[in-house]
Amino acid sequence: MMQANHNYSRISDSYLFSTIAQKIDTYTQLNPDKEIIRLGIGDVTQPLVPGIIQALHQAVDEQASTDTFRGYGPEGGYDFLREAIAQHDYQEVGLSMDSSEVFVSDGAKSDIANLQELFALDSIIAMGDPIYPVYIDSNVLTGRLGEWNEELGQWSELVYLESHAENHFRPALPTEKVDVIYLCYPNNPTGMTLTKDELQQWVDFALENESLILFDAAYEAYIQEDGIPHSIYECEGAERCAIEVRSFSKKAGFTGLRLGYSVVPKALTFQNMNLNQMWHRRQSTKFNGAPYIIQRAGWACYQEPARTQIEENISYYMENARMIKEGLKEVGATVYGGDNAPYIWLKTPVGVSSWEFFDQLLEKVQVVGTPGVGFGPSGEGYFRLTAFNTRDNTEKAVERLQKYYSE
Ligand SMILES: *Cc1c(COP(=O)(O)O)cnc(C)c1O
Repeated sequence: MMQANHNYSRISDSYLFSTIAQKIDTYTQLNPDKEIIRLGIGDVTQPLVPGIIQALHQAVDEQASTDTFRGYGPEGGYDFLREAIAQHDYQEVGLSMDSSEVFVSDGAKSDIANLQELFALDSIIAMGDPIYPVYIDSNVLTGRLGEWNEELGQWSELVYLESHAENHFRPALPTEKVDVIYLCYPNNPTGMTLTKDELQQWVDFALENESLILFDAAYEAYIQEDGIPHSIYECEGAERCAIEVRSFSKKAGFTGLRLGYSVVPKALTFQNMNLNQMWHRRQSTKFNGAPYIIQRAGWACYQEPARTQIEENISYYMENARMIKEGLKEVGATVYGGDNAPYIWLKTPVGVSSWEFFDQLLEKVQVVGTPGVGFGPSGEGYFRLTAFNTRDNTEKAVERLQKYYSE
């Protein structure tokens, strides 16, 4: 008899966004005349910039003629894109990077899930908490992390690296031995960052303990302040312990186009196994490359006029973030993040849980955000608002949130 993969039945209880959708549905059915503003979305709203649209059109036309048609491409990505990434994202800022260490993919989510194939099933995993839920769910589907403890809201074998206001969102180094460490900075959901010295401590820890760091830099393009690392490879020795994952989704609005990449350095060797070679083998075996047309659009992100146009879009979202943060501060709310990331992490009022706050905002002012506890146990008592909505909706939402606080 076929045995189903029962790991799937282990995650069904913890799905955040479907619960939110259900609550909104129920509310809308009972209150059809109320207009809801969503600051819960983790998706961009601005269209692709003209420079990218132009590159897409051109690449489509190339597919129409025998001389320029492209079929299967290299599994790791076309050289023009891998070289543009190595040059502009790394060499230009003084980091050494060979294009053969850059692996282009259809996005960061698949890479984050697939990279697990590089380490053993019984690996001990540590993760920042709160965190992007994909890290946890993908490990559970693989059969890791032990049992779900409903009371604690935790997986029994996951090492949670707690971040909250009390430790200034800087998790302490683990006191036990861990094999793989997932870190995301600027962080989704808190919008908080680490300084280069703070990130260096994680690199030093990983080198000392022979651990691997999976560093998710999906929001790197939103960093506004100096002294915040854009890449983990700014830290000394990181090429011997870290994989970095990046995405064109939030940076350039590719959430629908799909493009990302992982850097797997050649210096990354554990027990004589070279991770760069392994990942090359894995991608060649199970992946046939991101579409040529989309890779051309990715390449265009590094050229003018798209490069400047993309920066303007990021400024637009960051102005939204500033408005939300300042607007909430004005009414006395405690807010974090929003300075180097499109996320504002709001402390819920005293005695109000994340989900209670969600319900209150929906019912009283029709603003939707994301309950912090949905991102992990350290998120209880917090709430995530995103800067990805339009300016108009963001302005309206800020007024409504202020109204909530003044009542
Ligand atoms: C949105 C997001 C991703 C997913 O990126 P894609 O390239 O669209 O798959 C990865 N990591 C974090 C932290 C994100 O917020």
